[in-house]
Amino acid sequence: MTETYRKLKEWYEQNRRILPWREDPTPYHVWISEIMLQQTRVEAVRGYYARFLTALPDISALAAAPEDVYLKLWEGLGYYSRVRNLHRAAVMVMEEYGGSIPSAEEELRRLPGIGRYTAAAIASIAFGKRAVALDGNLLRVFSRLTAYEGDIKEPAAGKAAEEYYLRILENEPSAGLLNQAFMDLGATVCLPNAAPRCDTCPLAEICLAHAAGRETAYPHLPAKKARKIEERTVFLIRYGDAAILHKRPPKGLLAGLYEFPNADGKLTEEEALRYVAALGFEALRIRPLPPAKHIFTHKEWHMSAFEVRADEFKSPLREDMLLLSVSEIREKYSIPSAFASYTALL
Ligand code: SF4
Repeated sequence: MTETYRKLKEWYEQNRRILPWREDPTPYHVWISEIMLQQTRVEAVRGYYARFLTALPDISALAAAPEDVYLKLWEGLGYYSRVRNLHRAAVMVMEEYGGSIPSAEEELRRLPGIGRYTAAAIASIAFGKRAVALDGNLLRVFSRLTAYEGDIKEPAAGKAAEEYYLRILENEPSAGLLNQAFMDLGATVCLPNAAPRCDTCPLAEICLAHAAGRETAYPHLPAKKARKIEERTVFLIRYGDAAILHKRPPKGLLAGLYEFPNADGKLTEEEALRYVAALGFEALRIRPLPPAKHIFTHKEWHMSAFEVRADEFKSPLREDMLLLSVSEIREKYSIPSAFASYTALL
């Protein structure tokens, strides 16, 4: 290990972020935290992580947990397929590996929901293996250190970065620690956009982008595609002290989850009344609710909404609709965070 990387490790020991999953990095802890951290900020994950581990402290508890329990623990984190995969993988580990999470990257990648990055993170952080957990932070740091001129989103960039880090890890006994040092450097010093803090960076003397004074020219990104915008109209339909939920189809966006009934487009009050009537309700009162927005990876929902006080049913409820007391909804149903503004009004 060169003097430079010794400096990086020293920097890490003094400046590392204190994160609960790092304090006791068992394979289970690293795995749960890495899955939660996909698409979710570190600060937001802390509370979910603590709650999840209290309820399901180990792999056998997760494997034995009923669906309602783990979905509820995930409520608010979004991307529910992540927790479904966690559960499926836990069952597989119990059945095929006697309850011990495997340490080899290839075997980890056979488990549902574990891709290249997560396998490398578990192998290096929990088992100390020489593996590169290549995330956005590591890619950015690599692109600046080497002044990488290619498009950072291309597979060639990932390959070049992986080779670069593997060379650094070559004679490194604690690959996990160095991986985490690079992750933290990216998260707190070599910041994205216009803000790298090169004056505090332990790698400044070997950084080509810094030497050229062109830190923010890297990484090179492809032109961004605009997210698709979808208008939706959401219905908070109340009947006595109950409300209506709809179960989404088993495939596609937010598959199988419960939501407030909603329709394509921005409906007028008249159209909204027709929609409610088609569900089999006579509306006593209707009033608009404030609009809300939710951003998914590839699309945005721009929602308008109505609260409808229903009088009586004209016909039996559709099979995919449920009439539930508000307290039951709060306790047992995990409504996707896309609807958070309206769940708060229940
Ligand atoms: S010197 Fe600046 S640009 Fe280079 S790695 Fe450090 S923080 Fe990033």
